[in-house]
Amino acid sequence: NSKDLGNNQSVIYRSEFYQQITDAFELQKDLEVAIENNDLELYLQSQIHPHEPLPRAEALIRWQHPKRGWISPEIFIALAEESNLIIEVDKWMLTEACKLLVQQRKIGRQLHISVNISGQHFSHPNFLEHMLIIFASTGVDPRQITLELTENIFLDDFDTIIDKMQELKTRGVRFSIDDFGTGYSSLSYLKRLPVDEVKVDRSFVQKLTDNEEDQSLVKSVFEIAQSFNLEVVVEGVETSEQEVILNQLGEPIIQGYLYARPVPYRKWLDTLPN
Ligand code: C2E
Ligand code: MG
Ligand code: MG
Ligand code: MG
Repeated sequence: NSKDLGNNQSVIYRSEFYQQITDAFELQKDLEVAIENNDLELYLQSQIHPHEPLPRAEALIRWQHPKRGWISPEIFIALAEESNLIIEVDKWMLTEACKLLVQQRKIGRQLHISVNISGQHFSHPNFLEHMLIIFASTGVDPRQITLELTENIFLDDFDTIIDKMQELKTRGVRFSIDDFGTGYSSLSYLKRLPVDEVKVDRSFVQKLTDNEEDQSLVKSVFEIAQSFNLEVVVEGVETSEQEVILNQLGEPIIQGYLYARPVPYRKWLDTLPN
């Protein structure tokens, strides 16, 4: 009868549920080990400025699991965000990016790298300390770093957010609002926070060529950016048709497969002029 069926189903659901929990737990442990063993990799994806030739790129993390192969950052970042592991991930990434900037500067190359910071990390009481320790220990010039924050940091207390950002701003760090338009959005924060840049999310670019609503949305982001004096990066640009439209609406910095995919950092360095 239906009661039995219900029970059977709940048994199945329960074992699947435990399986998922166990998988997630194992993946979390493996990630911890990967951080310790330096098994994560720094990839870089070019950001193409319409006028300035200064090479810049976004740092994107990659993890090749010893048994499961490549695991998408969408999956393991979300997993890491369930614990303090995300702090270790962010710190690892920022450290690698800073070391690279310092090493390249020694051979005369002035580069700029954007690094993603999780909202969970940003709102941690030791966030500022973590950033400053990495800047000091690597000797990086913080003006070569942009920190990409998502709109989920705005769930935190506003004055605390301002203080943290201001403190880093005085050292020259740039700030970008990543995935702009997809999260908790209040435009007034753009005026109050020391933000330098917004990144238009990939989801708004996908239908740009045949969707007028997305076109006017992107156009209004450009207008907002202009009135707040912000740079605009558009991510996920894959076709020249998309680029043509974007250049009619404004002249954003372009990040996407059209120009370059994320590649291992050494490969990215190989593409630079000497
Ligand atoms: P995100 O910061 O919004 O990064 C942009 C994502 O779009 C990247 O995915 C990039 O590979 C992808 N992308 C760029 N251009 C194109 C394109 O033309 N077409 C398509 N289909 N995709 C494009 P990825 O590398 O898988 O990273 C996913 C997300 O994981 C990132 O989104 C970011 O939120 C997070 N993430 C990556 N690395 C780190 C990290 O070091 N720390 C933290 N906290 N998060 C990270
Ligand atoms: Mg990003
Ligand atoms: Mg983004
Ligand atoms: Mg995005």
